[in-house]
Amino acid sequence: MTQEELFKKLIAHSKEYGYIFPSSEIYDGLGAVYDYGQMGVELKNNIKRYWWDSMVKLHQNIVGIDAAIFMHPKTWEASGHVGAFNDPLIDNKDSKKRYRADVLLEEHIAKLDEKIDKEVEKARKRFGESFDEAKFRTESPRVQEIQAKRDEVHSRMVKALTDNDLDALRQVIIDAEIVCPISGTRNWTDVRQFNLMFSTQMGATSDGSNTIYLRPETAQGIFVNFLNVQKTGRMKIPFGIAQIGKAFRNEIVARQFIFRMREFEQMEMQFFVRPGEELTWFHKWKQTRMRWHQSLGFGAENYRFHDHDKLAHYANAATDIEYKFPFGFKEVEGIHSRTDFDLGNHQKFSGKKIQYFDPESGESYVPYVVETSIGVDRMVLQVLSAAYTEEKLENGESRVVLRIPSAIAPVKAAILPLVKKDGLPEIAQNLLSKLKYDYVVQYDEKDSIGKRYRRQDAIGTPLCITIDHQSIEDKTVTIRYRDTMEQKRVPMADLPQIIEDEVSMKKLFRIIETEPEC
Ligand code: ATP
Repeated sequence: MTQEELFKKLIAHSKEYGYIFPSSEIYDGLGAVYDYGQMGVELKNNIKRYWWDSMVKLHQNIVGIDAAIFMHPKTWEASGHVGAFNDPLIDNKDSKKRYRADVLLEEHIAKLDEKIDKEVEKARKRFGESFDEAKFRTESPRVQEIQAKRDEVHSRMVKALTDNDLDALRQVIIDAEIVCPISGTRNWTDVRQFNLMFSTQMGATSDGSNTIYLRPETAQGIFVNFLNVQKTGRMKIPFGIAQIGKAFRNEIVARQFIFRMREFEQMEMQFFVRPGEELTWFHKWKQTRMRWHQSLGFGAENYRFHDHDKLAHYANAATDIEYKFPFGFKEVEGIHSRTDFDLGNHQKFSGKKIQYFDPESGESYVPYVVETSIGVDRMVLQVLSAAYTEEKLENGESRVVLRIPSAIAPVKAAILPLVKKDGLPEIAQNLLSKLKYDYVVQYDEKDSIGKRYRRQDAIGTPLCITIDHQSIEDKTVTIRYRDTMEQKRVPMADLPQIIEDEVSMKKLFRIIETEPEC
């Protein structure tokens, strides 16, 4: 199965099993907007809980807030979004499709990288044991040729973006002979800037002064509340403020399912530090955030850092954590050292002093900020892509199983009476009524036990608990594990502990804390 086929199946599966639906589907959907169904919302809530607790519970110096989506319009002038929250867009005149110019170029560079990797793999096969990859990469004329092309495109792109030179950006696309994936032609328009913020009117009249924006990021809600939180929480630097909430961007190139949406959710944490210490914190947060991802067990090889070539004017370091989605390595989270840009600008635009008095040094200053910013929806997609598995079983049958880490799986356990009679449903209901206070559990008595197991596999339930006639005699049940399909007979009284050991987030938190840095 190709990665593309796998991705299509994943989208279909997400819909079939109540994870993700197109928005307002009965009206044929709305572009790049999605709804979470009964399973999706549980998964999403668990991911949010995992993130929130890893920030707010594990760190005494991080607190949370929940700011409004609507903010004073000046916020977006101060943040630079009104003037500069722009994406360089280019249209293909034949297909009439619009693309982000930087994304077209990045995809082209990724293709050249792949070509180099293919050359290396071919040579590895040819030379066998004696193959010296480093030497081949520096000496093969073919690799050198592709590498030179790649480096040229890359450095010209970075320069054009840094200089904000849209003509130069277009010229790189022309010179690299990039074609539109739909029409296959090189008939490109000029590159133009486009503001991604949605606006609406507040109040009864509709004159311009009442225009407000749907926030394109949650971070600004944290910055404008910096003093409120610092003072009322008596926070001492270094400290962080965390927030989870909706953000909106009128994305032009909205593809790849929930990877790029127009309405999405972010989990952001702004960490305020003493000026001069920001890069140390930046490196610490990079490691801590990578451990958060990797503790889910999807394989270290599926993650990488991508340090930014072009830093935003306010940042002095930035990196992305990328995950290997079925459509390639893509950003899930950004970690940015934002200097004092945000607080400094809010100070300027609001005319209010936004400073911290450092009792140790006796000085007042505008704190520097290290931000960790992750998309909830991209996390959901990461989990689903990693979890979706089709398996051939020993008995010749096959199953689709979502190997979602138990701690974030939507349903923790299914309670299944073997038959619908002889008092088994009553025992099962009784068990459910005890477990439901602590866990999302599902009761199912319909169809054969095999079919019920498959249904639970398909939604990713880690444990199935079967009540049979022996349960009446000795108060034991069969517990079946989703991933191994192993079955064990256990006393019913042990179930709360067994479930807790399987689904608790503690194991994940311990991995994050293996090197407690922040
Ligand atoms: P991209 O380059 O993919 O557009 P970005 O660099 O603009 O992303 P940030 O502004 O750093 O993204 O936002 C932080 C995080 O928010 C991203 O890492 C991503 O997980 C999430 N995010 C951003 N835009 C979207 C979107 N349109 N849909 C879903 N998630 C998004």
